[in-house]
Amino acid sequence: MMLYYDFHIHSALSPCGDADMTPNNIVGMASIKGLDAIAVSDHNTVGNVRAAMEVGKELGVTVIPGMEVETEEAVHILTLYPTIEAAEYAAEEVYKKLPDVANRPDIFGEQCYMDSEDNITGYESKLLISSTMMSIEALFDLVKTAGGLYIPAHVDKHSYSMLSNLGFMPEHLDIKYIELSKRVASETEYLENKPELKKYKVFRDSDAHYLGDISERINSFDIDDIYSIFKGGLLT
Ligand SMILES: [Zn+2]
Ligand SMILES: [Zn+2]
Repeated sequence: MMLYYDFHIHSALSPCGDADMTPNNIVGMASIKGLDAIAVSDHNTVGNVRAAMEVGKELGVTVIPGMEVETEEAVHILTLYPTIEAAEYAAEEVYKKLPDVANRPDIFGEQCYMDSEDNITGYESKLLISSTMMSIEALFDLVKTAGGLYIPAHVDKHSYSMLSNLGFMPEHLDIKYIELSKRVASETEYLENKPELKKYKVFRDSDAHYLGDISERINSFDIDDIYSIFKGGLLT
């Protein structure tokens, strides 16, 4: 059975995420679009994931805990976790490595914590869209310890990606997955020009910051693959 997904969606906790990116709106839109599984993956935090998971249970959409971490090389890594506890453990470590720079809501936007009824329960004062003081290697180890997936995000982009910032995929890390952004119209054509990427399993996500940008029902995984990837820790 195929499972339609979008594993890279920002909520209103990301300063760049639209205020309409509430738990109910995100999961509701995913449901309308016919997605089976999504991940709420904010910048360097999982603060709105529990709320989205609760809504997901009500609406029948699997919400996987996610977080888009910015390493000290300014590389974005999409990370996915088998449980909320694992995600919160990783997020706590990431938060410690986030520089103590205050958010400027007038410049960057508000960073809103929300409950499962979309009430704002607080504001994050530390700016979440900073590079953490965590290398690509340190993050790899952390995600591995947490039992999560380490997915270099939007590798095709000309900024904040492994290829743009490092110029190569680091062979010393056991990376199995990459993400291509929706800018890539033909995955086959893109990979023909970058044969070194063919060994990775590719995720295609929206990186939505606005409701309308959440993926249509186009990207899918075989459900058995997802089970084996997460060792059955999800979709229960
Ligand atoms: Zn990114
Ligand atoms: Zn993103």
